[in-house]
Amino acid sequence: MHLDRLARFESADYPVLSVYVNRDPLNPAVRSRIGDLLKPFREFGDLDHDSQMSLRADLETVIGMSDRIDADKAPATALFACQGGGLLEYVSLPVPVWDVAMVSDRPYLRPLRSVRESEVVAVAVVDRKHARLYSWDGAGVRLLELVEELEEHKGNFGGFSGYDERRARSHAETLERRHFRQVADRLFEHHRATPFGKVIVGGHEETITRFGSSLHPYLRDRLIGSFVIDPHTMTDSDVAKRVDGLLETALREEQEELAVRVAESAEEGGRAAVGLANVLEAVNAGAVDHLVVAGRFAKDGVVCTTCGRLDRLGEACVGCGLLVSPTDDVVGAAMEQVLRMGGRVDQISVPSLLDQHGVGALLRFSMHG
Ligand SMILES: [Zn+2]
Repeated sequence: MHLDRLARFESADYPVLSVYVNRDPLNPAVRSRIGDLLKPFREFGDLDHDSQMSLRADLETVIGMSDRIDADKAPATALFACQGGGLLEYVSLPVPVWDVAMVSDRPYLRPLRSVRESEVVAVAVVDRKHARLYSWDGAGVRLLELVEELEEHKGNFGGFSGYDERRARSHAETLERRHFRQVADRLFEHHRATPFGKVIVGGHEETITRFGSSLHPYLRDRLIGSFVIDPHTMTDSDVAKRVDGLLETALREEQEELAVRVAESAEEGGRAAVGLANVLEAVNAGAVDHLVVAGRFAKDGVVCTTCGRLDRLGEACVGCGLLVSPTDDVVGAAMEQVLRMGGRVDQISVPSLLDQHGVGALLRFSMHG
């Protein structure tokens, strides 16, 4: 994804057209939906001649890409075009966003920002003698490796006397421990090649517990859950389904915790802000460490083209006195500002304490006193 380039792109002279369109299996006619989205921009309004020519070319380009979008298997597509400024980007998105088209002096990235960058998740399905190691990266699970119990020392155990039986049992336990250690080592090797953000373990109930304690401490810290499955009859798609379910739950819990942290901390007078006015003030002060937006909450506002200050309204910038330009989504502009300053942004989708405020933020420093 060319997100950095898009985030930096700015065109003072030519309009930038941003279009997001979801793939809808029930309504596959992408061309007509794009046509509808672009209709408002066919009236060129007060654009000067060169800007009109650039936008006209962009509209045709985007319409012309309908077939490519139709053929694309991705759940959603984003297009950014500014012929006069030499910009044309086609981005396939891994999850649906919302249909929207916008013309501005820079690409509209809000729907893109709502797509969480998916972490790579390690999945280990383990039994006493085998293990299947998978990685999950948003596009589904992929088998990394099949680990088999080491062959040596299998030998002849289990005799007739009670002594031999005990010996056999303890030997089996030793073999199991060694097998689990080997699996844990392999998983850690994969982690060193491509770091895992989360770990999930599957298998029989008793195996899960015993294997969990064999994990390398780094990976044990990243363990977010487990699922019971019969490793002998399962398919890879069974594994994928269980992993998707666990990740959905984990994401929901993360989002709920984040919203509670912001709302409670703001209420207690801590380093947090809620509500658009307070949050914009904090963004303008460079105080936002983590911006949290409740769903698609959006409001119009103004952006200072010189110093970048954001406000709900006004004709001249409160900061520098120069001209501001209107935006349909000042929340989206705030998200970009926070990212430019090295902060984090999250658009959460669960109902939460933040719903009544629309937006909140964890701050680097307190805004009052
Ligand atoms: Zn300004």
